[in-house]
Amino acid sequence: MPKAVIIDGRKIAEETQLDLKAEVDALAKKGITPGLATVLVGEDPASQVYVRMKQKACDRLGILSRGVRLPASIGQADLISEIETLNADPEIHGILVQLPLPKHLDAADVLQRVSPDKDVDGFHATNLGKLLSAKYWEDLPRFIPCTPAGVIRLIDSTGVEIAGKTAVVVGRSLIVGKPLAMLLLARQATVTICHSRTQDLGSETKRADILVVAAGVPRLITGEMIKPGAVAIDVGVNRLEEGLVGDIDFDSAKDIAGHLTPVPGGVGPMTITMLLANTVRSAQESAGA
Ligand code: NAD
Repeated sequence: MPKAVIIDGRKIAEETQLDLKAEVDALAKKGITPGLATVLVGEDPASQVYVRMKQKACDRLGILSRGVRLPASIGQADLISEIETLNADPEIHGILVQLPLPKHLDAADVLQRVSPDKDVDGFHATNLGKLLSAKYWEDLPRFIPCTPAGVIRLIDSTGVEIAGKTAVVVGRSLIVGKPLAMLLLARQATVTICHSRTQDLGSETKRADILVVAAGVPRLITGEMIKPGAVAIDVGVNRLEEGLVGDIDFDSAKDIAGHLTPVPGGVGPMTITMLLANTVRSAQESAGA
C-alpha cells in the first residue's frame, strides 16, 4: 500500500462534469445550448485523439460541439478567416485551436485572433494579461488555461491549504508552468519556477509543500527529490514503449509524497473538464445568466 493518498483525477472530473451537466440543463430551459468549436488543422494522430475526446465530453454534457477540420496546407490568412467566422457565430461560445499547428503557421498569431470572449483555452494576451495582473483569486479573468485550472482543483481536493505554502512548479511553458505559477501566487503560495537551466533541481523540489511537474521528461522527479508529505501533481504525459508515464517516478514517489496524482488518470481528465467549464461559463455570461 502506498503511503501517499492517490488523487483520483477521473473521479474528481466525473463529479465536476455532473455539476456542469446540471448547469447545461438549466441553460437548456432558457433555450441556450453552450457551443464549442474545435479547430483541427492537418492529420496529426495525437491531436485527432484529443479533439475526439473533447467532442465526446461535449456530447455527454449536452454541449454543442462543432468540429472544424482544415487541411494541413491551409495558409495563415485562410485559417484566421475561419476563426473570425467562429468569432461572429452566436451558436459558438468557445473556440479551441488544437495545438500544435503545422510549422508554416504562426500559432502565436492565430491564438490572438480568437475573440477574448470565446477564448476557452485562456491563451489570448488579454486573458493572460489579466491573469498576470490578478492580485487575488477574485481578480482572475473569465478564462484561465485549462490544465493549470485543473491542477488547482486537484490540489484543493486534498484539503491542503495553498495559502502560505511553498509551491514549486517545474516547467515554464505558456500552457502550463507560467499560468500555473500565477494561479498559485493568486492563492497566496510562495512560488518558485524551475526549468531546464535550473541548477540542482532536487534541492528546489525538495523544499516544496506543493510540487507540480510539467517538463515532459519521463520520471524526472524521483522520490528522493520530494519533501515527505508533499502534494505532488504530475502533469507530464510521456508515451514510452511500456505505455504512458508521467514526469514523476510514481513507484519511488508514492511512499514519500502525502498526495500524488497518477498518470494516466490524474491531471488529464481535469484538463478536458476545465475546458467544458469554461465553455459553459462563456454561454452563461453571453446570456447574462
Ligand atoms: P513544454 O515542452 O512547452 O515545456 C517544458 C518545460 O519544462 C520547459 O519550460 C522546460 O524548461 C522545462 N524542462 C524541460 N526539461 C527539464 C529538466 N530536465 N529540468 C527542469 N525543467 C525542464 O511542455 P508543456 O506544454 O508545458 O508540457 C509539459 C508536459 O505536460 C508534457 O509532457 C505534456 O505532454 C504534458 N501536458 C499534459 C497536459 C494534460 O492535460 N495532462 C496538458 C498539457 C501538457
